[in-house]
Amino acid sequence: MEHLSENSKIKTDPKKFETKKIKLNGNDPDQETGEIFFTSWTEQEAKKRALKKTIRIIGSIYGVSLIGLFVHILLPILIPTNIIATLVAIPLYLKWSNERATFSHATGYCPQCKKETQFRPYVSAQLLDSVTLQCPDCGQTIKADVHSLT
Ligand SMILES: [Zn+2]
Repeated sequence: MEHLSENSKIKTDPKKFETKKIKLNGNDPDQETGEIFFTSWTEQEAKKRALKKTIRIIGSIYGVSLIGLFVHILLPILIPTNIIATLVAIPLYLKWSNERATFSHATGYCPQCKKETQFRPYVSAQLLDSVTLQCPDCGQTIKADVHSLT
């Protein structure tokens, strides 16, 4: 068995995931433990990332509204949609630029359906002391406590 050297790993994956243990809280008192995979961002990286995400959202909304140039009946809907999207983008940018750590997924046993699974972030991917995850198998949302120690 050959192992990849540390160097080649860093090259292919510039932002390596860090992991922390989490406690998955279900409706019943027994708790499951799991692991959360996250990335930390510097202030500069967080701002860059926020700008990229904001542009992507505004770009796709404006892109869709180009249909309005051809289907004029849609214009009264599309113009206010674009204004709202622009207004919403500012607080979203501010929210994302404050996210210094975000998680991509978490693994563990779902406290609801008891299956071993890969959880996705629910609504927000910001890594906080307590995060909300969604189980892809049963669709339930699960609150998880993030341990401060890895
Ligand atoms: Zn589940």
